[in-house]
Amino acid sequence: MKTKAEMKVLVLNSGSSSVKYQFIDLKDRVVLAKGLIDRVGMSDSVVTHERYDGDKIKISAEVLDHQTAIEYVLAVLLSKNHGVIQDKTEIDAVGHRVVHGGESFSESVLVDEKVMDEVRENIELAPLHNPHNLRGIQAVLKHLPGTPQVAVFDTAFHQKMPPYAFLYGIPYLLYRRYKIRRYGFHGTSHFYVSRRAAELLGKPIEKLKLITTHLGNGCSMAAVDGGVSVDTSMGFTPLEGLLMGTRSGDLDPQIILHIVGREGLSLAEANTLLNKHSGLLGISGLTSDMREIITEKKAGNKQAELAFEVFTYRIRKYIGSYAAVMGGVDAIVFTGGIGENSPDVRAESCKGLEFLGVSIDAGRNNSEEKEKLISADSSKVKVFALPTNEELVIALDTARIVEGARHPAAHPDHQRDGISSGKVEHEKINSNR
Ligand code: ADP
Repeated sequence: MKTKAEMKVLVLNSGSSSVKYQFIDLKDRVVLAKGLIDRVGMSDSVVTHERYDGDKIKISAEVLDHQTAIEYVLAVLLSKNHGVIQDKTEIDAVGHRVVHGGESFSESVLVDEKVMDEVRENIELAPLHNPHNLRGIQAVLKHLPGTPQVAVFDTAFHQKMPPYAFLYGIPYLLYRRYKIRRYGFHGTSHFYVSRRAAELLGKPIEKLKLITTHLGNGCSMAAVDGGVSVDTSMGFTPLEGLLMGTRSGDLDPQIILHIVGREGLSLAEANTLLNKHSGLLGISGLTSDMREIITEKKAGNKQAELAFEVFTYRIRKYIGSYAAVMGGVDAIVFTGGIGENSPDVRAESCKGLEFLGVSIDAGRNNSEEKEKLISADSSKVKVFALPTNEELVIALDTARIVEGARHPAAHPDHQRDGISSGKVEHEKINSNR
């Protein structure tokens, strides 16, 4: 029987209209293949598949449900010309990204009927995500019966937040009745980059105060004290906190009541307004894409400049508050599509923080390196830009949980693995984030 370090794990991210996958060999930490089934539920779906050696295919298909999507994933992995396995049994385990674990899960877990019921129960907290995550699990159950499955939750890393950080100032009864509290998301990414930063600093995570900043289409920050997420900017839903591509982030709740009254919006329309028409897109009136915002700003577009300023100002504000709640900060990490790739956003977000001991080195910040220290040598607080790797965390967690379930006595502590024995080779195959 294979040990966790020898397993090949299929990582699945099943969304409403897409299924993303990576097949990772943990022995060499290599992504053997990865791809995307896009437009699930439509007749003009597209399957894209890429092998570790750069071989790529794109197929048009009709993928009407998640069952069919998983059939395609298996078919391309098994394909004679483009695949990487000869038999399904070479898939040792399947790890699923599950968005909402509610208060039920502060850890990844081996999937069984009871776990599926709990994921189902948490649908009311994440109606746009959990149903599809569950469909992915059910499809694997059908097509790979007997293969162990593990659920890795976006919320789990934040479950150790203290009540004073997760409670809202509304009647406590509403927390008890409807579980209304801060949950936080992007937990797998905050976990990964906090551990990676500790490795780069050469210090145990238990001794560090870190601020992690995940800036993608969705954006969130976390205060990671001693390895534990003690606060995070997303809340009951991923709408709260930073300004995002199309989401408003923090706002006075009264605004919603005001707009609903003034504009005669339905609740569904208000939901769309805050989640789809706000953020960078809402302020710029142009785009939710940070690259375009920066190009337009440089071309003199004032609305794009405003959107950029609101975006970076809010990050700066959160850096200040997280340094305050932790009583200091050793390092700040930027990750996600924007955090990894935009020197402009990183520099502007850290502007004026010299009083905290933050000083950015322009040369390092603008360098082409993917994983880099961007602070000056004189900077008391180290600042990093690090590529995130949620798939690797999911694969490692999956292998650890599967091995732990086989030999429970040998793994009493259920500690998550570090990531120290190496990274998945980004150079061989770029992450699709
Ligand atoms: P998701 O949250 O959907 O995974 P990503 O993490 O890929 O998204 O981030 C997407 C965002 O990253 C977009 O706003 C995109 O404009 C931004 N981005 C990607 N490359 C750059 C770049 N070179 N400069 C600025 N922003 C970038």
